[in-house]
Amino acid sequence: MPMEERTVFHKIRDGELPAEIVQSDEDVMVFKDIHPKAPTHLLFIPKHFVASIADVTPETAHLPGLLILKAQQFAKEQGISGYKLTFHVGEGGGQEVPYLHLHFMSEEQIA
Ligand code: 5GP
Repeated sequence: MPMEERTVFHKIRDGELPAEIVQSDEDVMVFKDIHPKAPTHLLFIPKHFVASIADVTPETAHLPGLLILKAQQFAKEQGISGYKLTFHVGEGGGQEVPYLHLHFMSEEQIA
């Protein structure tokens, strides 16, 4: 993809833009939202780029599930019992950054 089309999340994923990274493995990166809307507000992104839920294909349909599984595991590890998971889809759905991401919000604090 041309450099000018790379989003801020590409740059965070590739270490070119600082972020408060909470977790990162081969498949998924988790970092704190820069403008938190809850005491805990994290963003889960796949390392493999997909722009949005609207762009998921049969080949990439596992990625939203993987983000949900990572969020569930993270909550268990942190002892968080209640949380909200949200995908914004398209500009009309409130999506500002065209890189697939799962919002994880909780009234509970992480360690
Ligand atoms: P969207 O509205 O696209 O679903 O959510 C994008 C989220 O990314 C917003 O909640 C916004 O605060 C967050 N965000 C935007 N730019 C940055 C950034 O440079 N760093 C971090 N950590 N979060 C960002």
